Amino acid sequence: MNWALVGASTIAREYVISAIRAQVGHEVLHVVSGSPERGAAYAAENGIASSATDLEAVLADPEVGAVYISTTNEKHFPQAMAAIAAGKHVLCEKPLAMTLGDAVTMVRAAERAGVTFATNHHLRCSGSHRAIRSLVAEGRIGRVLSMRIFHAVHLPPHLQGWRINDAGAGGGVIPDITVHDADVARFILGEDPLTVAAQMAASGMGDTVEDSAMSAWSMPSGAMVMAHESFTHPFAGSGLEVHGTEGSIFASGVMTQRPMGEIELVTGEGRTPVPFSDHDLYTQGLSDFASAILGKGQPAATGWDGVKSLAVALAVRKSAGSGQREAVDYGGAP
Ligand code: NDP
Repeated sequence: MNWALVGASTIAREYVISAIRAQVGHEVLHVVSGSPERGAAYAAENGIASSATDLEAVLADPEVGAVYISTTNEKHFPQAMAAIAAGKHVLCEKPLAMTLGDAVTMVRAAERAGVTFATNHHLRCSGSHRAIRSLVAEGRIGRVLSMRIFHAVHLPPHLQGWRINDAGAGGGVIPDITVHDADVARFILGEDPLTVAAQMAASGMGDTVEDSAMSAWSMPSGAMVMAHESFTHPFAGSGLEVHGTEGSIFASGVMTQRPMGEIELVTGEGRTPVPFSDHDLYTQGLSDFASAILGKGQPAATGWDGVKSLAVALAVRKSAGSGQREAVDYGGAP
């Protein structure tokens, strides 16, 4: 399977190119960039055979089977629609699009075209999140009462660009991190938030967009989820907790791109460390995507998962703006 990268991005360079190459028979053939100079330098730096500025020309290459889209967020929709129209399988970065309608349109177009479409929600690919999900599904903590997600981090200097100063490119912590937290809650609890009540702030880094958000979500089971995202917290650390009638799960350092952190299960019998696989998150996501293309299972996060995480994030922003509790509109997602 040959890939085209759309976007000479940091995430592709740091994680996804190596994850593609870790799949047997997968290679990156082209990188598409808006800048011929940066695209050529990126291709040389990453051992990619060709760079181009013309997406349509790359999509016309019959050697390309799959496309990874990691441009700034406002470009995902037109680029994904073009790739789908060309019959390519698509792995698209989160948030899928700027609006829910565009995200739904992308996923429906992929269904009609019969191509595999996935969202790159890496956290549900981690051994830690999969272990926590299993504990919950096995009933080890009884009925879930609440979940707390701690995802207030410090945006590293090399990423302090469009994320903090360009609303038009999809900047802001809510499209950047709240989407991940929505996916984590849905993945671990197996249900979709109904309503959200949120606040957001610019706490030192955000220029024209929010850099911090806190919200509470109500779940159909009656469980409550609390989520905190930020770009401005150098020492907060990340984590999540799930509390049930028979036990609690404490996971620290697990809202990351690397396989790290610690999990403890606490019940009436005491505290038990929970082991988990330390496989690479992105390699697992690419492996699940490659299998789905071959008709074996689903991608780790499907297009509809991307629609739903975006729906929750949009509701969080709406609630923070209105000061009201808002219902999550999933746009008819199944
Ligand atoms: P980058 O800022 O590194 O890249 C985004 C775009 O910016 C690129 O497509 C490129 O445009 C342009 N660009 C890159 N470097 C430069 C530069 N030096 N000067 C001018 N323009 C530049 O973004 P990220 O890699 O951080 O994020 C890309 C996407 O991936 C986003 O949608 C983000 O939400 C998502 N993401 C997902 C993660 C995950 O774990 N799932 C983690 C990080 C990001 P061009 O297309 O012209 O090459």
